[in-house]
Amino acid sequence: MEKILCSVIVPMYNEEAVIWETYNRLTKVMDELNEAYEIIFINDGSKDKTKDILNEICNQNNKIKMIDFARNFGHQVAITAGMDYAAGECMVIIDGDLQDPPELIPEMIKKWKSGYDVVYGKRKSRQGETLFKKFTAKAFYRILRSMTDVSIPVDTGDFRLIDRKVCEALKQLPERSRYVRGLMSWVGFKQTAIEFERSERFAGETKYPLKKMLKLASDGIMSFSYKPLKLASYLGTLLSGLSFLYLIIVLLQKIFAPETVISGWASLIAVNLFFNGIVLLMLGIIGEYIGRIYDEAKGRPLYVISELKNMEEREGPRFKM
Ligand code: UDP
Ligand code: MG
Repeated sequence: MEKILCSVIVPMYNEEAVIWETYNRLTKVMDELNEAYEIIFINDGSKDKTKDILNEICNQNNKIKMIDFARNFGHQVAITAGMDYAAGECMVIIDGDLQDPPELIPEMIKKWKSGYDVVYGKRKSRQGETLFKKFTAKAFYRILRSMTDVSIPVDTGDFRLIDRKVCEALKQLPERSRYVRGLMSWVGFKQTAIEFERSERFAGETKYPLKKMLKLASDGIMSFSYKPLKLASYLGTLLSGLSFLYLIIVLLQKIFAPETVISGWASLIAVNLFFNGIVLLMLGIIGEYIGRIYDEAKGRPLYVISELKNMEEREGPRFKM
């Protein structure tokens, strides 16, 4: 069998409106390269016609492969499955909605051939996204950077090319709450960036509602930092200091103006509510970490596959069901 140079990994969740266009643009770019390639579509439990269309494409063209998930496992898990099954010497991860331009792939491959192991796409601008999304995304990347010891590049999504050895290193990381781009920074290797304008979605709507965005953000922060837990000690120290000052005031009041002491109901309730709030907040943060420990402890597989098209099953720890 011919050795595959590049595997393109494309997660797809309810993307019926864009698949044909994505397929056409990707194959056009890849054909022009004149190298052996494969495109792996991961159907992440779509509820629309995504699977039927992908099936049709796979029947037409055996360079196109499909991993069909048994349900929606999420974008990051879909990418992971793609990397588990990719056969190429390098692999490109790209969104299925054409927000990441496939035309950048040849340039990425050129950089890779010149010796880089990771070539990531850095967003110069984002088009067709709401102000809210632009703002929260910018803020998130910067908060994440300030909280972690691993340097995770800002304004960088999952659009990137990685060398096979990076993929092999990633396979050694068994964790379940996956923030793939963080994991890639964690394993290291020689990295470089290519800047690009992030265009509008070709069709359809974002598959990242606020809830999924928050999940991704908390996975990103909590898998790479325990600073939120430290918040408890900082707040605790600050507040006990303040309470001690207040205690002195109360005592002085009692000694020098005993007749005013009884009037403290408002301050009492305020202090009480404030402290209860902080305690609940900290319990919540600790709970988030415990939940993640619980998830890891169960040791379930990351994903369950219902069907493979144009490819064979793999052996390995992640594939046991
Ligand atoms: N996606 C997925 N599973 C999900 C959500 C999204 O596979 O649960 C895919 C989606 O089909 C797309 C990519 O992940 O190819 C990025 O999603 P989207 O474009 O909706 O995110 P946005 O660009 O709005 O952040
Ligand atoms: Mg998108």
